[in-house]
Amino acid sequence: MGLYRDEGVVLRTQKLGEADRIVTILTKRTGKVRAVAKGVRRTMSRFGARLEPFTHVDLQLHTGRSLDVITQAETLHPYGEAVVRDYARYTAGSAMLEAADRITVAEKEPALRQFLLLVGGLRTLAAGEHEPRLVLDAYFLRSLAVAGYAPALTECARCGAQAVRAFAIAAGGVVCARCRPAGAAVPAAETIALMIALLRGDWAAADASEPRHRAECSGLIAAYLQWHLEHGIRSLRHVERV
Ligand SMILES: [Zn+2]
Repeated sequence: MGLYRDEGVVLRTQKLGEADRIVTILTKRTGKVRAVAKGVRRTMSRFGARLEPFTHVDLQLHTGRSLDVITQAETLHPYGEAVVRDYARYTAGSAMLEAADRITVAEKEPALRQFLLLVGGLRTLAAGEHEPRLVLDAYFLRSLAVAGYAPALTECARCGAQAVRAFAIAAGGVVCARCRPAGAAVPAAETIALMIALLRGDWAAADASEPRHRAECSGLIAAYLQWHLEHGIRSLRHVERV
């Protein structure tokens, strides 16, 4: 198989033996790849720092029998530098990387739109122009939508009625008064409007939202995400609102 090039975002790293690491990367063309980075835990490593989580790297890899081997890594965007300096950005970014890892289930299955969403999310987070939790929630919603799990937000998820009242996770989003299952949350209309703004990338509307609607929106999105990903996102426990 030999050598191939790709670019990707480092999602996580694990120790392997004395000096090596297994690096999980969401790449642009190949999809999710787990590859060995040899010698990166030695202080004189040529590319150790470039293979840290959050970094957007250009890679050369060698196809291996079980895991591929990284032979070159050049930093394209060191998003980690701006992300790890700030606790709110760091926790939001960590939840983003974990979600990207969980949503792209299969390895080496191209997931270009998920890659582009992740790069866009990290760029926005690093720029610091919007509240980190809003950036994270926008990423969650769009990533779920790309995976085929976009929540219904304008019409009843069950019957298509326009007059919606509650948000029912198992039903797939907003529901009308007649379809509303027992125990479904009844969020403020502004909360649903915020979800629509985040899904569309309407930052002017999202930035103008009130804290209580942001909190309600985050709670619904987190519950919706946990429902669709089997084991939930552990890093979400650390995400706080500033
Ligand atoms: Zn209905």
